[in-house]
Amino acid sequence: MTEGFLLVLSAPSGCGKTTLLKKVMAELPGLVFSVSHTTRSPRAGEQDGRDYHFVDKAQFLTIADRTPSGFLEWAKVHGNLYGTSRRDVESRLAKGFDVVLDIDVQGAALVRDSADPVSVFIAPPSLSELARRLRGRGTETEESLRVRLANAEKEMADADAYTYVIVNDTLDDAAEALKAVIIAERCRRRRGIDGLPVQVTG
Ligand code: ADP
Ligand code: 5GP
Repeated sequence: MTEGFLLVLSAPSGCGKTTLLKKVMAELPGLVFSVSHTTRSPRAGEQDGRDYHFVDKAQFLTIADRTPSGFLEWAKVHGNLYGTSRRDVESRLAKGFDVVLDIDVQGAALVRDSADPVSVFIAPPSLSELARRLRGRGTETEESLRVRLANAEKEMADADAYTYVIVNDTLDDAAEALKAVIIAERCRRRRGIDGLPVQVTG
């Protein structure tokens, strides 16, 4: 069986990445979501173990201290700590799943340094639409909104470092584009038709 690939997705907060990802995962088999650890508090409707592993700072730092075996990457984002469990990712890749990492631009840069991910930056149609969506979601305090919007412009400057950029204007179009990227990556020449890496001779 061939290993799956790492799909790194980043976007400014409120861009619609979670919504887009849920749609694509419901429509395309073979993808699994890497559930991160975070010190941020759960939002209404979020479930421990499904959306995040919600931990306190001491628990987080204990795992971070075991890096590289603990976290594949971790970073401080919008004032909270977030990290990707290395063991979860590696075991699922080995089972042949394509593993989706929903991580920020700092985490994406770390994963690019240590692995060979397919990376996709999801961009909003405009900063004003981003602010409208983030406010419309109704989950952030005024202070959290301010931090997230201030960080958005810096994050957008990193888009060039990603393999693909998809603008999440219309959800259906963005979902089709993301599915196309994943399907194309699954067809890469290095993935043989029997699922094994292509042997190049001569
Ligand atoms: P993120 O995970 O990037 O922080 P969410 O998926 O939570 O963002 O989406 C933020 C808000 O924007 C939600 O209220 C969601 O319903 C809305 N949204 C997502 N995608 C679109 C879109 N293409 N057009 C309009 N609204 C969207
Ligand atoms: P939110 O608090 O809105 O769920 O996420 C805030 C930001 O943290 C998003 O950009 C999200 O992609 C990022 N994030 C979530 N999990 C991780 C992680 O494990 N590592 C890193 N570096 N960023 C993460």
